[in-house]
Amino acid sequence: MNCSVCNATAIINSADAFCKEHFFEYFENTVKDTIDDFSLISKDDKIAVACSGGKDSTILLHLLKKWGYNIEALAIDEGIARYRDAALEDLKTICKTEGVLLRIVSYQENFGTTLDSYLKNNRGARACTVCGVWRRHLLNRESKNYDAIATGHNLDDEAQSILMNLIKSNIQVLARLGPKTEVVSSPGFTPRVKPLYFVTEKETSAYALLKGFSIKFAECPNAFDSFRAEVRDILNEFEAENKGSKRKLMQWFIEVIPKLKAYYSNEQIGVCARCGEPSRRNPCISCGLTSRVVVKVN
Ligand code: SF4
Ligand code: ZN
Ligand code: ZN
Repeated sequence: MNCSVCNATAIINSADAFCKEHFFEYFENTVKDTIDDFSLISKDDKIAVACSGGKDSTILLHLLKKWGYNIEALAIDEGIARYRDAALEDLKTICKTEGVLLRIVSYQENFGTTLDSYLKNNRGARACTVCGVWRRHLLNRESKNYDAIATGHNLDDEAQSILMNLIKSNIQVLARLGPKTEVVSSPGFTPRVKPLYFVTEKETSAYALLKGFSIKFAECPNAFDSFRAEVRDILNEFEAENKGSKRKLMQWFIEVIPKLKAYYSNEQIGVCARCGEPSRRNPCISCGLTSRVVVKVN
């Protein structure tokens, strides 16, 4: 298999066959074009990069820094033993190397519990549901002084989200997806942008490996127990049999998303009376979960 650009031996076959040099060029151009085509961020913006210490957010941090964007790293410590601690240590090293300021905020400090303890005390709670609600809450609350939050979601992540919401018929939630995650514009919401929107999981893994980023490719111990994991496996099996399916799903979504966003553009949003964050419910789902935190009195 030869590189589709220079005919040298290809090292990856993704959107096309590429040698190392042309894979880097393809990857970085795809990310740059996504930022430009969807007006995600500008050099005047102050951007919080949501970092986990994993490959996707590390690539994003590296590229935005390299291209001269004004960024800071924002990490959430969920309190997941033998997983997040190691990733955050890696992240500290990465931020030092890149010369980027890092802020870490934790569930323990903000909700009075780690995710591990919450799950132990609330049998039946789904890890990723709780984790996702609290992460979105903290990311939004901690990014009020930024123009945007950039996340490392890649094409596979988004394809999974689209399918998950289609299967559950969550059309209003579907309308909040896309390269720029906002339907309503509220002073309390910081826009979320996804510059890695059109690069795949396979491509981000290859990019991180070929660039020599020292990242552990560990998976969260709770990941197996999620609807997302089921959908991911279905999509991967389908892609293996029908190459290009994920990209086609994304092409379809990019065509319909402006219509979906326009349809829900008058959506009204209130404020949670407990935490003051913008929310469609009162109290918000995050505060509802926090009210079930078991406080130990010594
Ligand atoms: Fe949280 Fe689930 Fe992701 Fe683990 S896999 S970090 S529990 S959302
Ligand atoms: Zn080449
Ligand atoms: Zn609240």
